[in-house]
Amino acid sequence: MTKIGFIGVGNMGGPMALNLATAGHDVCAFDLVQASLDAVVGDGVRAAGSNADAVKGADVVITMLPAGGHVDAVYANDVLPNVSSEVLLMDCSTIDMATSKAVHEAAAEKGCLMVDAPVSGGVKKAVDGSLTMMVGGSDEAFAAAKPYLDVMGANIFNCGDAGAGQAVKMCNNMMLGIQMASTAEAFVLGEKLGIDPEKMFEVINVSSGQCWSLSSYCPVPGLVPSAPSNNNFEGGFGTTLMLKDMNLALEAAKAVNGSAKVAEMATSIYQDYLEEGSGGKDFSGIIELIRKG
Ligand code: NAD
Repeated sequence: MTKIGFIGVGNMGGPMALNLATAGHDVCAFDLVQASLDAVVGDGVRAAGSNADAVKGADVVITMLPAGGHVDAVYANDVLPNVSSEVLLMDCSTIDMATSKAVHEAAAEKGCLMVDAPVSGGVKKAVDGSLTMMVGGSDEAFAAAKPYLDVMGANIFNCGDAGAGQAVKMCNNMMLGIQMASTAEAFVLGEKLGIDPEKMFEVINVSSGQCWSLSSYCPVPGLVPSAPSNNNFEGGFGTTLMLKDMNLALEAAKAVNGSAKVAEMATSIYQDYLEEGSGGKDFSGIIELIRKG
């Protein structure tokens, strides 16, 4: 049994922490939101009183936080001052490469092994323990992290050095953000052309327009049972987080002179949805905005 300190038990971190506890590990968690912490306590997950308490005495520390600013502050103030050089650090948040590399460097100065291991698959795969995990770090750190990654995920990839997991994740989410915008636009167009959404789903799911946003996360309710569209776009992957990821991709593309014209247009849709007050809703909710024209 490994002692795991888990920081950030929201939509994704919660089920990931629960799966580690179910696998027999001693998981001690903390989250700033009491309701998120309460949701995972029991079933082997213990509640800590603070981030520092969660990591003290841990063999492994896992963070699943919203963005780079949170990760930077939590490692500088709470994690690194309270762990020994023996601890393995795993940041599963999706953040910018610069912050990720800086945290890796601070961890190395302390003598700790670290991986960045952002994930893909959404809440359903976090619950099932079948996430795709994109890992950056040394081969030694990857090997040390693998047994824990195997509990949380089904497809584990060594993407390269520190920050490489973040680079792959950023490209993946750029595609996802564009695909959801195209899926929502196509369904609204179909509705306006008088086509039954169920028929659209049935046909396109076996045609060349098929993609994850359609088959696993359809923005029209009633077609994919686990999709947030069935739950008034509550839970899932917040629009604020998708907008963060699209902006990470745009900034990365700008830095290397890459083209991201389609991503720019999709980003503006998530920005508009946020500005109408829907930043807390799942990103597939942009279909509501598109429907309004
Ligand atoms: P979330 O907002 O549901 O969870 C993040 C949690 O971190 C919250 O409960 C929040 O209270 C907590 N937190 C923030 N600052 C903290 C601090 N200083 N100390 C302790 N806890 C703190 O977000 P999520 O959907 O679970 O996403 C987490 C990360 O995973 C993000 O980087 C996101 O981009 C990425 N991600 C999300 C999904 C998804 O489908 N939701 C899929 C893949 C990747």
